[in-house]
Amino acid sequence: MNLVGRQDRLLLGGLAVAVIVVFARPIERYGLSLAREAERSSGLALVPALLILVAVFLFHQQGKRQEARARTTAAEADAKQAGARAAEMERLVNLGQALARSLDLETIRDAVLQHLPKLAGTEDVWILLRVSGHWQALVGPARDTRREIERAREHVADRALAGDLAPEGLAADGQYCLRLTAGGDIVGVLGVPETDGPIQEARKRVLATAGALLGISLRNAQLFHEIRETSLRDGLTGCYNRTHALEVIDSELRRARRSQMPMSLIMFDLDHFKDVNDRYGHLCGDAVLAGVGVKMRDALRGSDLKCRYGGEEFLVLLPETPLEGAKRVADSLRRELADMRITWKDDSLTVTASFGVSVALPAEVDGQALIARADAALYRAKDQGRNCVRLSIETAVVA
Ligand code: GH3
Ligand code: MG
Ligand code: MG
Repeated sequence: MNLVGRQDRLLLGGLAVAVIVVFARPIERYGLSLAREAERSSGLALVPALLILVAVFLFHQQGKRQEARARTTAAEADAKQAGARAAEMERLVNLGQALARSLDLETIRDAVLQHLPKLAGTEDVWILLRVSGHWQALVGPARDTRREIERAREHVADRALAGDLAPEGLAADGQYCLRLTAGGDIVGVLGVPETDGPIQEARKRVLATAGALLGISLRNAQLFHEIRETSLRDGLTGCYNRTHALEVIDSELRRARRSQMPMSLIMFDLDHFKDVNDRYGHLCGDAVLAGVGVKMRDALRGSDLKCRYGGEEFLVLLPETPLEGAKRVADSLRRELADMRITWKDDSLTVTASFGVSVALPAEVDGQALIARADAALYRAKDQGRNCVRLSIETAVVA
């Protein structure tokens, strides 16, 4: 602890000066004459030596003061750097926590948009995902320049993918790129434009850490999506299973009630399918069912829910579609199925299907009732000759 503060030292200095002023004359008279007397008698140069000593002392003090100032400045710089590192670490932790809560691309995108620009030092940070051999923007550019920018980014990302890019990053075409990997697989590329010159090493380290977190998170989301899809779909036809379809029908009914939009349901059943199994075997029957799944994907909209309801019975849910529209869709699918040729060994066979169509009643909430009406219409189609479409509230023959 310093017992004498700065103010105290000033006071002591002032007192010393005052004492010197008071005793200046006696000092001059006796002190100097004594020194001169001593110099004369001993032959020593005391006064010049004293002056040199004082000068050296002052010089030494000055040096020490400068050293102390430099140490303080260095300590301040270290403290500032440590503060910046702690802030960066906190941002990385925030990104990690946000990613840990994300199991789909939508929430990963939100986490990236919120946390990555601060870590990258720019709002223009971008990410392209590698999906089925193509690039897909996770964080995309502004709409007006989208295609041009996307092409440039895809070009750099292609180089990254081709191995042109070392795992620690690549600076090319004014972009710094980083591979996003998980378990050795490349899941995407992260890029930062080098608008203000090359990216600093410290920033690269931060980006590499953020990239590692992102790679794992994106892979998790992909796997979660795949597992979920597998559990919801029928493996033979690729259609959704019955349990999932019932959930979707109920939620779509609620949505239709809110939006006051019509919603229709088609149910169809393959005609005399037992005969196909009996004549060609079950493996052939399976091939026909798989063919029906492909035809449904080709002929229907992506937004229509395609479901395998039972063995050779299928449902198609058509949101925002009135009964007349659904009747047209059913008839077009009926014709497509009838035209489909299935090659089996040396044979080529065809199948037909019968269709029932129902429409949701105003304020209807019961999905089972909607299905039951389509089923009743389908039975009428079977009764009235098969390979035709029947409606739940009218009996007009479409085919
Ligand atoms: P209908 O025109 O009255 O519908 O006659 P159908 O022969 O199609 O009807 P039925 O209900 O008598 O037979 C349905 C057949 O569908 C019986 C069953 O073996 C077959 N089936 C159901 N699921 C599968 C499947 O996954 N694979 C194969 N190969 N056949 C299946
Ligand atoms: Mg049948
Ligand atoms: Mg059946």
